[in-house]
This record gives sequence, C-alpha cells and structure tokens, in this order.
Amino acid sequence: MKRRGIAILGSTGSIGTTALRVIARQPDRFHVVALTAHSNAALLRQQVREFHPSYVGMVNCSDANGDGWHRGTESLVEAATRPDADIVLNAIVGAAGLDATLAALHAGKRVALANKETLVVAGELVAKAAKLGKGEIVPVDSEHSAILQCIAGRDRREIRRVILTASGGPFRGWSESKLATATVTDALQHPTWTMGRKITIDSATLANKALEVIEAHFLFGLPYDSIEVVVHPQSVVHSFVEFVDGSVVAQMSVPSMELPVLYALTHPERAPDSGVQAFDPVALSPMTFEPVAHDKFPALKLGIAAGRRGGAAPAVFNAANEQAVSLFLEGKIQFAEISESIQSALDRLGDLPSDTREELLDADMKARRHVMELFEC
Ligand code: NAD
Ligand code: MG
Repeated sequence: MKRRGIAILGSTGSIGTTALRVIARQPDRFHVVALTAHSNAALLRQQVREFHPSYVGMVNCSDANGDGWHRGTESLVEAATRPDADIVLNAIVGAAGLDATLAALHAGKRVALANKETLVVAGELVAKAAKLGKGEIVPVDSEHSAILQCIAGRDRREIRRVILTASGGPFRGWSESKLATATVTDALQHPTWTMGRKITIDSATLANKALEVIEAHFLFGLPYDSIEVVVHPQSVVHSFVEFVDGSVVAQMSVPSMELPVLYALTHPERAPDSGVQAFDPVALSPMTFEPVAHDKFPALKLGIAAGRRGGAAPAVFNAANEQAVSLFLEGKIQFAEISESIQSALDRLGDLPSDTREELLDADMKARRHVMELFEC
C-alpha cells in the first residue's frame, strides 16, 4: 500500500492535534508532509520534531522562530498544494481557511474539511474548484461524516431527508433570564465535546448548527427543506438519513473526533484502530431527542434563512458571527448580542454582490466592520 502524504493546516488546534494522534497510529497508511500553525511556535516545533514534515508554515510571522519555516498567509496555500500532499486536512478556524481549500481543490487534492466556514462563505466557488481541479471534499465534521457514512455507495436521489443532531450546548434548558447573564466561562463549558474556543461559542449559540446546515446543503446537494436539526444531548447519534422508502439509517459512536478525522482520510475504506471507545448501548442509555428552542437560540434560524437567501448572505452570516464571537470572548459584548449582530449585518449587507471570491471577501470584510461599528469598537 502506498503511504498517503497528509498536509495539516492548523496542526496546533483541537482538530489538528487530534489528527496527529490519529495519523501516528496509522504509520503504514499515512505520513505527514506539511504542517502549518497560526502562532503556537512551541507546539509546532514539537510536532515538527515528531513528524518530520518536508514543509512547515507559520502564519503569524512575529512569532515564527523555527529554522527554515515558511511565513505568512501564503504558507497555507503553499502547504495545501505541495506535490507530496495527497490529502489536505483543513483544520483552520474561520473564513481564513478559504483560499487554502480552493487552492487544494484546484490542485486535485482530497480536502478533509474541518473548516466548515469555507463552504459557508463560498459553497458554489468551492464546488466549482473541485470540479475544475478534480479535487474532492470529504467532511470531518462529525454530523457530515455520519451522513457520508450512511449514504456511502447510494444514489443521492434515494435520500428524502437528513436530520443533523445537536448537543444543545451548555445553555440547553436555561431560561431566557438566566441566558441574559451567561458569561464567557459558562459558554466555554461544552457538555460533550472539547473543541477550540470559536466553535465552542458557536455551539452555545447554535450558530454552529446553522453553519452545519449550510455545509450539508453544499456537500450533499440537498435542498434546505430536506435538512432538519434535532437536539440530542448525549452526542452519540451523529446524524440520521431518511431514504425515500421511509427507512432511517444513523451513525453512532461515543463522542470523539478521532473517528470522523480518520474516516475523512480513509473514505470509502475503513481502518482499524480509530481510537474510538467500544460501543456499549446499555452504558450509553438513555439516548434522548428534543426539539430546538428556537426562541432562545435565534442564530440557528438566522443562519438557515441566510442559507436559503443565498448570494452573499451566508458569508455575511459567517463573518458577523466570527466578529461577534471574538468580541464576546474579549468580554466586550453580551451573549445575546452575538445573534443581534448577525441579524443586523444580514439586514444591512445580505444582498451584496457575491459572484467572485473578491466580492465574497468584500462582503466578509464589510460584515466584520459593521459589527465593530455596532459596538463602537
Ligand atoms: P482551534 O482554535 O483549536 O484551532 C485552529 C487552528 O487553526 C490552530 O492550529 C490555529 O493555529 C489555526 N489558525 C487559527 N486562525 C488562523 C488563521 N487566521 N490563519 C491560519 N491558521 C489559523 O479550532 P478547532 O476547534 O480545531 O476547529 C478548527 C475547525 O474545525 C473549525 O472550522 C471548526 O468549526 C471545525 N470543527 C472542529 C471540531 C472540534 O471538535 N474541535 C469539530 C467539528 C468541526
Ligand atoms: Mg459538528
């Protein structure tokens, strides 16, 4: 078996470090050819010593002190288009991952995509790049990995509906008055997953599930009417697929990103030793399902509406959310102001031109600026 070369963008993050753990268990299948990080030079240096990549990139130049490391944002595209990279794992957070995804797809790579923001900002351009370059996107997000695993080998026309599961986040069941007092520390206490800070806040607002609905629309070519969300606090069922005959298939595992990361690398094959804990239905009982409390978590409906509206609206949704989350994490705005910022940006900017990468990035920039101005930052 030829070992496949893997480039990991964002290797110092939650998904990046999970991926290195997964790859270390599969030395006959995979080897690391490129690593990039934003600013954690100490961890990147340790990873370089262990995995010996032929290319190392550090985006934040001021902190780069490795020997022979490449610098700046260009290093992302360089790492993503290396001839020795068969698979590019995009584990960057936010719209900053877009250019690397496009470049990798143009270069005919498999993109193992954790960076869902890429598809939300520019789903159509990404699909075009994959077609032109003969690249391929395989999702890392656990819900989308679940859908892919449920439908692998089936004709897409046989799918009637998908139901994405959502843990409900740390504020599930909180009253509106209690939610008004939610702090950054509260929002960072996710009940079932340990993840980077931005996606953890997105899980608390349910903006993450909105990003995932849009992601599912572009990944699987499903209309928005066929994508639903249900709250499942135990995070064991990762999604359901209902087929046209009414049969429903689900994919399950103890919550861990090791399995979806590995599957994105091996799809459509499966490899032993995913690191996932043995499945024990009795120990995992009970598994429960409940509807989304849309009145308390308006970001989900806002995002789905932005997806349906299309054009620049999903990019504006994403950028306003990124900016508001970073202000929330800095302690400058309240929890509820995240969704208020998104609403305001969509009202003002949702119909901006959106045909090209440049227009989408312009909409992204305007949405960020709009949110900053709302709070006079
Ligand atoms: P994280 O914050 O832990 O890590 C992000 C990584 O990207 C870091 O290595 C950082 O150095 C790098 N990075 C950050 N900003 C960058 C920039 N501007 N340019 C270049 N590199 C940059 O985030 P994470 O939790 O690993 O999430 C990464 C992506 O995966 C996100 O899109 C997230 O939504 C998605 N995702 C994460 C999980 C999870 O369990 N963590 C699950 C599903 C999807
Ligand atoms: Mg997910």
